[in-house]
Amino acid sequence: MTHWKKILQNSVNNPATLARHFDFDCSALEPACASFPMRINAYYLSLIKSVNDPLWKQAVPDPMEVNDSICIPDPLAEEKLSPVPNLVHKYPDRVLLLVANECAMYCRFCTRKRKVGTAMMQITEESIENGINYIRRNQQIREVLISGGDPLLLSDKKLDSLLTRLRSIPSLEVIRIGTRVPCTLPMRVTKQLVNILKKHHPLYINTHFNHPNELTPEAAKACTLLADAGIPLGCQTVLLKGVNDNAETLKALFLGLLRMRVKPYYLFQGDLTKGSNHFRTHTSCGIKIMRRLIGTISGMAIPTFALDAPDGKGKIPLTPDYIVSRGKKLSFHNYCGQLCTYPENGDPV
Ligand SMILES: *Cc1c(COP(=O)(O)O)cnc(C)c1O
Ligand code: SF4
Repeated sequence: MTHWKKILQNSVNNPATLARHFDFDCSALEPACASFPMRINAYYLSLIKSVNDPLWKQAVPDPMEVNDSICIPDPLAEEKLSPVPNLVHKYPDRVLLLVANECAMYCRFCTRKRKVGTAMMQITEESIENGINYIRRNQQIREVLISGGDPLLLSDKKLDSLLTRLRSIPSLEVIRIGTRVPCTLPMRVTKQLVNILKKHHPLYINTHFNHPNELTPEAAKACTLLADAGIPLGCQTVLLKGVNDNAETLKALFLGLLRMRVKPYYLFQGDLTKGSNHFRTHTSCGIKIMRRLIGTISGMAIPTFALDAPDGKGKIPLTPDYIVSRGKKLSFHNYCGQLCTYPENGDPV
């Protein structure tokens, strides 16, 4: 098997090179590629079947990225919520620590596309050390989410050092890694990597798959290695127009993830990220999809549909409405639309 670094080196990072593989007008994509970096590694490229298929849309620049007059560069106000650079402290008991500025593939809808993969994202040994010290000083922080960019693009040695330093903080209970590598470059998940990760339990990984075509034998193997090392796996999917915005696609994705021992965790409404407006759906789209899935498939396969509120106000669940009225009896629809009631405590049945 080709080493993951080779596969990564062998990435397409401009439209003209992509035009050697597919028939399309590459000059139309140049402005978007100049504004936001492009990287499609050889593995992910091999999964794209045709121009404009659901994987193409995630990876290939779109002319619409540069005429988005609605969205904003930092919709979650991450910069404002950073007490030290590259650490976002939004909730009382957990923080987001950015430790890498590269990804195995640059997603066109990335919330952090203002800086990921560009010189705007300055991650240094010093910024990481300052982040670790912030966590050490603030003992209410129980959990750290390590993200980026993609933390699993760090070398094994750097990751081990980072995890060891975090584990030396007594008040820190849980380490969570956010990574798209099991989906976009599964060969990165090696036996050696997993042996490092499992030294630092309780360690969770939330990965990111958006379409059933990403559920390949290679991805399944990566997830098996991680799950066999006792690492609980979750998935944070983004609801994307033209990619996965229908119940059939998401049902296949969530059930497929469950078979790979990955628990669907969040389905995110698209953020207001500049350059990604063309991916946004109406919130009613996601709610309708959830309404169709809840109850008809295993609850284990059902993520929380959530909106990350603008300006860093936090994640808000967007749940279908089942309740019809709240009197002496609660009246509600069940998953298949039948009207049901439940007498509240103290009221006659
Ligand atoms: C999403 C997020 C978290 C984690 O939220 P959970 O609901 O626990 O998954 C933590 N910090 C920041 C800044 C986040 O954006
Ligand atoms: S892997 Fe994550 S951080 Fe990297 S480009 Fe995709 S969404 Fe952004």
